[in-house]
Amino acid sequence: MLITKNISRIINVYIHLQTFASGYNIDYLSIMNIEKTCLDCGSVIHGRADKKFCNDLCRNNYNNQLNSNSYNLVRNINNILKRNRRILEELNPSGKTKTTREKLAAKGFNFKYLTNKYDTQNGKTYHFCYEYGYLPLEGDEFLLVKREEKAE
Ligand SMILES: [Zn+2]
Repeated sequence: MLITKNISRIINVYIHLQTFASGYNIDYLSIMNIEKTCLDCGSVIHGRADKKFCNDLCRNNYNNQLNSNSYNLVRNINNILKRNRRILEELNPSGKTKTTREKLAAKGFNFKYLTNKYDTQNGKTYHFCYEYGYLPLEGDEFLLVKREEKAE
């Protein structure tokens, strides 16, 4: 709703102006000689030295933004894991085969991300993205496997 958005923008500006008017303190500013700006909107803020925002609206806005950034991080990593799983699935339709690092990398496989590791008794480490896994072999080769058991 464009109208609602514009109204909330006007209210937002109004609150900024109000805060500006009520918090204005010449003595304080001349003592501090520092112009502090709101972490959210960048407006100059006046008042206590530890004040970071013009008002609650800006604080909420800023915190929501932070939360959405951490959500983006989770989403991006989930996407990497899903892509890794899909690549392993594509390269390993039979459930056990060999491939090369080059082929995995060419498809966009990201070796930094996996869901779990499995250490065998003879000291080998399988790397898994969900039920699809790989074991680095000699040179450039990779053994691809598929795990049937459920998650622990
Ligand atoms: Zn602000």
